[in-house]
Amino acid sequence: MQDIRWKAFWSLLFWAMFCLMVGWFSSADTAWLLFSVGALAYLAGHLYWTHRLYQWALKPSLNFMPNGKGIWEDIFANLYHEMRRHSRSQSQLSSSLERLRHATSALPDGVVVLNNRNEIEWFNEPAIQRLGLKRHHDESQPIYYLVRQAEFVQYLQAEDYSEPLKLKSWRSPDITLELQIIPFASKQRLLICRDVSAIEKTEVMRRDFIANVSHELRTPLTVIGGFLETIGDMQGEISPDIQPYFDMMQSQTTRMRRIIEDLLTLSRLENNVTLKDEADIAMPAILNLLLKDAQALSQGQHTVRLHLETEVNIRGSYNELLSALSNLTSNAVRYTPAKGCIDIYWQLRGEEAVFTVQDTGIGIESHHLPRLTERFYRVDSGRSRDTGGTGLGLSIVKHILHHHQASLQIESEPGQGSRFIIVFPAQRVLPA
Ligand code: ADP
Repeated sequence: MQDIRWKAFWSLLFWAMFCLMVGWFSSADTAWLLFSVGALAYLAGHLYWTHRLYQWALKPSLNFMPNGKGIWEDIFANLYHEMRRHSRSQSQLSSSLERLRHATSALPDGVVVLNNRNEIEWFNEPAIQRLGLKRHHDESQPIYYLVRQAEFVQYLQAEDYSEPLKLKSWRSPDITLELQIIPFASKQRLLICRDVSAIEKTEVMRRDFIANVSHELRTPLTVIGGFLETIGDMQGEISPDIQPYFDMMQSQTTRMRRIIEDLLTLSRLENNVTLKDEADIAMPAILNLLLKDAQALSQGQHTVRLHLETEVNIRGSYNELLSALSNLTSNAVRYTPAKGCIDIYWQLRGEEAVFTVQDTGIGIESHHLPRLTERFYRVDSGRSRDTGGTGLGLSIVKHILHHHQASLQIESEPGQGSRFIIVFPAQRVLPA
């Protein structure tokens, strides 16, 4: 720009000097006339090129860029280079976009880009097959107009996308979809849609297999258990040599029955995704029952206390809640040596209700904590077995809490004790 200004300045100065010289040799009037004609011609030139620039700007094209004269030659040359750079970066951008589009189309999962109003901005081919979206027709439509299931609408509105949502496809009941929303940029969202029918089928097969095996084993075990009890009742008829083997048979049968009962409970919990027998549960009554059960299990070896700091109740399943809470209190008794303390708390924290069992027992090393709710995961299998454990208790607790949208926190220090905390969300809490 600086160059152009100097160029214009030097041309005008040169013309003025020339006119001065003409004025020197002829007259001042001639010089002024000559200068004015020159200035007018210069102005006309500018007007002409401004007009050409305007004409070109109406339909800008690299092929029809004027050449210009004088400073206009520089202006048009600069413009030409800028235009070329711009068109080159634009074609690079569109080819990157095209590549990105091809890549997302090749993904096996459906991808839908949503704007901050949940309207569809773009989607790939698999999204057409999985969600039944129509190209052009469904773009700019809110996603909940097209995926209308109540669970999905709730998932979208809840804005907690940490876990994916599993849905039966509305297009075919044999297809199970897993939908996951991933927020990105400023309030935009990616909706990823996966066909998990095959995994779901295997999962159902696994659940059915465990349920069937447990069911089939229950009857013979009941028969064996019954006979063992009958034989046990025949006082003095068992030879002392056989007695230890007989006791072992009885205790192992009891153990197997417990495992089978727990496996059947787990299958039932897994098959019922939602609560069937929902009711208003009087928590103080349940907690007093837990206290009595824990004291009975402890047989006076521990101090068991109940701290009822609130009287709020819970909306949920009585049987499931009793099972989950008593699993935690019985664990506290079983994993706390004699003379230890077990404290049960029922508190209100903001709008959430909190159940805590705290013991002064053996505690758990921190690396075990994330795996404790897995089936058959035990820190010390010997101790678990000796105290009548099946290794399925916390897994049952996890499923029950999932049904109640509640969460489990475990805090523990080896040798110091453990604290198992259940947090019930506000929507499950009822006033006393
Ligand atoms: P189990 O029937 O073996 O007790 P659970 O699923 O109830 O099975 O618990 C899993 C494991 O977690 C137990 O084997 C035990 O090692 C550990 N555990 C559970 N509760 C406690 C506790 N209060 N104190 C120490 N360890 C515990």
